[in-house]
Amino acid sequence: MTVRTRFAPSPTGYLHVGGARTALYSYLYAHRMGGKYVLRIEDTDLERSTDAAVQAIFDGLSWLGLKEDEGPFYQTRRFDRYKDVIQQMLNAGTAYRCSCTKERLEQLRAEQEARKDKPRYDGHCRHNPPADDSKPFVVRFKNPIGGVVAWDDLILGRIEIANDELDDLIIARTDGSPTYNFCVVVDDYDMQISHVIRGNDHVSNTPKQINILLALGATLPQYGHLPMILGQDGQKLSKRHGAVSVIQYRDEGYLPQALLNYLVRLGWSHGDQEIFSMAEMTQFFDVKDVNKSAAAFDTKKLLWLNHHYIKSSPADEVAKHLEWHMQDQNIALAGGPALARVVAAQAERCDNLRTMAAQSRYFYEEFSDYDAVSADKQLTAQTRAALAALREQLAALADWNAVAIHGAVDAVCKALSLGFGKVAPPLRVAITGSTASPSIDITAELIGKSRVLARIDRALAFIDAKAA
Ligand code: GLU
Repeated sequence: MTVRTRFAPSPTGYLHVGGARTALYSYLYAHRMGGKYVLRIEDTDLERSTDAAVQAIFDGLSWLGLKEDEGPFYQTRRFDRYKDVIQQMLNAGTAYRCSCTKERLEQLRAEQEARKDKPRYDGHCRHNPPADDSKPFVVRFKNPIGGVVAWDDLILGRIEIANDELDDLIIARTDGSPTYNFCVVVDDYDMQISHVIRGNDHVSNTPKQINILLALGATLPQYGHLPMILGQDGQKLSKRHGAVSVIQYRDEGYLPQALLNYLVRLGWSHGDQEIFSMAEMTQFFDVKDVNKSAAAFDTKKLLWLNHHYIKSSPADEVAKHLEWHMQDQNIALAGGPALARVVAAQAERCDNLRTMAAQSRYFYEEFSDYDAVSADKQLTAQTRAALAALREQLAALADWNAVAIHGAVDAVCKALSLGFGKVAPPLRVAITGSTASPSIDITAELIGKSRVLARIDRALAFIDAKAA
């Protein structure tokens, strides 16, 4: 059997972390088994689906690097097929027209509620089908009577539902449009989905879908329903808990690999391993090892993973993502150092790329004001002599590199009998605007000689202006 999984988002909002985890698990499982991962956009709810949401889902998936093997398929482009299947079922007698009026159904419901019975269709048209098509009708699925629908959920274990609990589901509305559960069934059938991996908010749909699949003569897929993701407070994860959209994690400076690694561990484990490359995830992931119970989202752990990947990924790769943030913050890169070098210099100090970009602006552009506290402390009459001597030493350097720069700072320390701690901090404030930067020699190298000299001049002028 070829394993075929699918991710089937409804485009009614952004791609949230729960959806991203479903996509990731579907992707990993298919690839682990040498199968295919299908992307299907479930856009039949015309009122709530938007093109912007479709785009947001594509953007989120593409940022994560979860490329579909087949698709994207759109349900709205498959209406003819759904109509054909409805007709086939009518012909085969597995579905029937129901022309019960709204009034009749409301009355039925009121009576059932009064008797404290579960509200459900009473089968009137199942037993007395309308003689012709003259009255408006819906199409209902002839749910089996008696017996159970059962499946061995890959995550939740055996689940059994009595058929008598299930209604004769409407599969086509009076305007002929197919309903949600029906479209899912036809798609899973046509797309030969072997493993349905989805959120456990769909558990109650599964018996309905299984019955229709059986009526179509389909081989049933296996189902695995994923537990919910909760916030740290134990409530269902929502906007209250901060970022929930995948793209917002990009905007906040996370690497896709960090979020993927975080998500794969959210409800699944492989021994006590925490760090997984994509290749390892694909090698080890199995739906049946997913936990039954809900997992709590832990932003601290995600940040820890992010820092891990910022430090350990090839600098060139991190640089591509940093570039996005530099552009997002309108930092013009032309004429500045290679971004990979900035990544290497900043990786230890920054656990997210948004901050790294903000703290790397001075490599590319003049900063406007000094950090007031740093300037008060470091750009003073007492540090003026060291800065002036540094300017002279640095200006004389033939090779502009960290080693030579370090040598120049040492020479000034010696000449003025000052410790490194008295010379480097004023230089740092002079050339970066604050006391937070990577080591001074690399920082100065990356800023470049002419800019460093100009910035020391600016600092000297600043000190003189303060004194005057
Ligand atoms: N479209 C459904 C959703 O976004 C998922 C359907 C499914 O996976 O069967 O919740």
